[in-house]
Amino acid sequence: MAARKANPRPTGARGGTSTPARKAASRPAGAPAPAPRHSEVDFPPLTAEAARARGWDQVDFVYVSGDAYVDHPSFGAAIIVRLLESKGFKVGVIAQPDWTDDASVTVFGEPRLGFLVSAGNMDSMVNHYTVAKRRRHDDAYTPGGVGGRRPNHAAVVYGNLIRRTYKHAPIILGGIEASLRRLAHYDYWSDALKRSILLDSGADLVSYGMGERSVVAIAEALDAGLAVSDLTFIPGTVFRTSSLDHVVDYELLPSWDELSADRRAFAASFAAQYANSDPLTGRRLVEPYPHGVYVVQNPPSEPLTTAEMDAVYRLPFTRAWHPSYDEAGGVPALAEVKFSLVSNRGCYGECAFCALTFHQGRIVQARSHESLLEEARALTDDPDFKGYIHDVGGPTADFRGPACADQLRRGACPGKRCLAPEPCRRLEVTHADYVALLRELRALPGVKRVFVRSGIRFDYVMADPDPTFLRELVAHHVSGQLKVAPEHVSRRVLDVMGKPPHAVYEAFAAAFDEENRRAGKRQFLVPYLMSSHPGCTLADAVELAEFCRDMGHNPEQVQDFYPTPGSMATAMYYTGLDPRTMEPVYVPRSPHEKALQRALIQYRNPANHDLVREALRRAHREDLIGYGPKCLVRPEKADKGKKEGAGKAGKGAGKAKTAGRKAGKEPGRPGAPAPRRADDRGGRPSRDAGPRAANRKGRGPAPKANGHKGGIRKQGK
Ligand code: SF4
Repeated sequence: MAARKANPRPTGARGGTSTPARKAASRPAGAPAPAPRHSEVDFPPLTAEAARARGWDQVDFVYVSGDAYVDHPSFGAAIIVRLLESKGFKVGVIAQPDWTDDASVTVFGEPRLGFLVSAGNMDSMVNHYTVAKRRRHDDAYTPGGVGGRRPNHAAVVYGNLIRRTYKHAPIILGGIEASLRRLAHYDYWSDALKRSILLDSGADLVSYGMGERSVVAIAEALDAGLAVSDLTFIPGTVFRTSSLDHVVDYELLPSWDELSADRRAFAASFAAQYANSDPLTGRRLVEPYPHGVYVVQNPPSEPLTTAEMDAVYRLPFTRAWHPSYDEAGGVPALAEVKFSLVSNRGCYGECAFCALTFHQGRIVQARSHESLLEEARALTDDPDFKGYIHDVGGPTADFRGPACADQLRRGACPGKRCLAPEPCRRLEVTHADYVALLRELRALPGVKRVFVRSGIRFDYVMADPDPTFLRELVAHHVSGQLKVAPEHVSRRVLDVMGKPPHAVYEAFAAAFDEENRRAGKRQFLVPYLMSSHPGCTLADAVELAEFCRDMGHNPEQVQDFYPTPGSMATAMYYTGLDPRTMEPVYVPRSPHEKALQRALIQYRNPANHDLVREALRRAHREDLIGYGPKCLVRPEKADKGKKEGAGKAGKGAGKAKTAGRKAGKEPGRPGAPAPRRADDRGGRPSRDAGPRAANRKGRGPAPKANGHKGGIRKQGK
C-alpha cells in the first residue's frame, strides 16, 4: 500500500477526546451509548456542502453504503474511506440513499475515479429477514435503529441506480454482501441460484475479502489513468470479460447453465472455490455464463502484516456516528463495539455454517500489543468510558497467530481442518501472547475490567497443556456467563459442522467449573446450540434434547441454521451434498421439521409439547413420553388434564408451580434436575438479533465489518 500525499483534513483531531460528550446519566436503560459530540468537519463529507467546505470541486470516489456512516474501525465503510483519505484521495459518502430516487446518488456529481458500493456491514437480506423469512423491524445500522432504510439486495440495487445516471463511471462493489455473492450462489430468500453479483449489479469489479489491499490497488490504478476494464490483475477482485485470451493460469468452474441444471455441479463448484480461498495457493477461477461472458475471480489478497493492520487501526477515526444522526438518537450498532478492541481477523476454525473462511480466509492476522494498548488508552480518555473494555477479540478471540508455520509457507491444507475432528498435530497451540495482552490491558490506568465476549474455541483451549489462559479467563474476563458454542452433541452432526466431539465440550465444562471453584466464583457456562443444521436428523435432535435434559439447560434462544451466502453448510443445504466429499447429507428443509427440531431443544415449553410428542414418535423414541425421570414430555392426556386442571384451579395452580420451583423441580415434570451450569433463566442473548449476532462468526453477526467478521450474523463458533 504505497503512500500518496496525505489528504489534508480541515481538523486533525483524533479520537474525539478533546470534544465534549453527551452525558450518559439521563440515558434510558437499553438506549445506545451516546457518541461524543464531534463537528461535521471531523468526518468525511456526507453532503456537497461539506465537500465544498473542504475546498473540493470534485471528489475522487463516492462511497455508497447501505448503512449509516459510523466513523469507527468496526465499520467497513469507515476503514475504506479513512484508508483512501490517508492515501490522498477525496472521498464523499452517500449513506443509505433513497433507492427510489435517481438523484440520491448524484449528491457529489460524477466522481473523478469511481463509485465504491457496499450493502453495509451485513448482507442486506440477513439484516432484513429472520431465518423464518420474517421481516425484521429494527436495524442497528440505521439512525434510531429503524428498519426500511436500505433495499433488499442493496448492492445490486445501488449498482443499477448509479448506472442509470452514470453510464461510464467505474463501479466497484465491496463489503460482505458482494464478497460472499461474488460468484454464482444460492439465495435462501428466493430459494434459487443467483448469478455473480457483478453481473446483476452492473458493476465493473468486486473487491472481495478484506478490502484494504485491493481497494488501494484499484484506486491507484485508476488514478494512474488505467481504464477500469484494464484492471484484471488485482488480487482479491472479480471482473467480467468476453474473452479468456489474456486470462492465464485459471481453473474453469462449472458454467451457469451447468449449475442451473445440476445441483451436483454447484457442490463441485463450491468445493473448488473453497479450495482456492488461500492467498498462497489459490488459483484464478473462471465461471462461464451464456453469450460468451466469463466472470473471473483473481486469487485472494495477501493478508495484512501486523504493521499494516496497526496502521489501519491508527487511522484518524472519530469513533462516533456522524453528527447528523444525533437527533434520531444515533446508530445503535456503535454501542456494541464502542469500547471493544478488534485484535485479530481470519480464522482456521472452519465451522461449516460460518462464511468467515470464505471472506477473511484461514490465516489469522493480529494487531500488535502496542497498537491495542494505544487504542485502549484512547478509550480511557472517552468521557463515556466507565472502565470496562467489553471485548478483545475477533472471529475467534483466542487465535492470535497462524495455525502453524507451514501455513505461511505453503498455504493452509486444502483437504484438512486444523482443529476438527481433532487438532492437527502441527497446530501451534499457545495462549501465551493473548494472556500477555490481556494482562497488559487490565493493568492500564482507568481500566477496571477487560472482558472477552468474542467466541473462544474451547477445543483449542483444551488442546493447550498450559492452564493459564482458562484460569485467567475465569478469574478476570468473564462477567458471570461464558458463552461457548458446542452447537450440538451428536457426533454425526458435529462432524458435518466441523466441531469437536462432545466429549471435548464436557471436558471444557469440567475444567471451567474447576477454575471457578479455584477462583471462588460462581459463573455459568452457556452453550450455544443449533437446530436443523445439515446432517441433523430427528434422532440427532432427540440426542440434543436429552443433553439439555441432563444438564438442566433450558435454552430460550435456539439458533435455527440460517443458510446465508458463502458457507459450506449453505452449499449442503442447497445441494444435499457435502462439497468436501460429494457424499449425500441429510438436510432438514421443511418448516415443520425445523419446528420439530427446535421444539425438541425447547421441550420444556408447554407450547411445544404437541410437537415434541410428534417428533419423539417419528424418531421412534416413545420411551421419552411419560412420567419417568428421563421423559421429555407427558402423554397428551396428562397435558390436557393439566391444562383443564390449571384452568379450574386458578390461583392454586400458580402456588403449586411456585412450590415446584422452590423444590428445584420443573413444574409438571418429575425429577427435573436443577440447572447445573447453564443459565436456566433465559439469559442467553439471541444470536439472531442485534449487531453482534453473526458474524459474527456469522459471528455477527457483530458490526465488525471489513475489519472483522464482516457482519456475518453469528451462528456460533
Ligand atoms: S498442517 Fe495442520 S495446522 Fe497447519 S494448516 Fe494444515 S491442517 Fe492446519
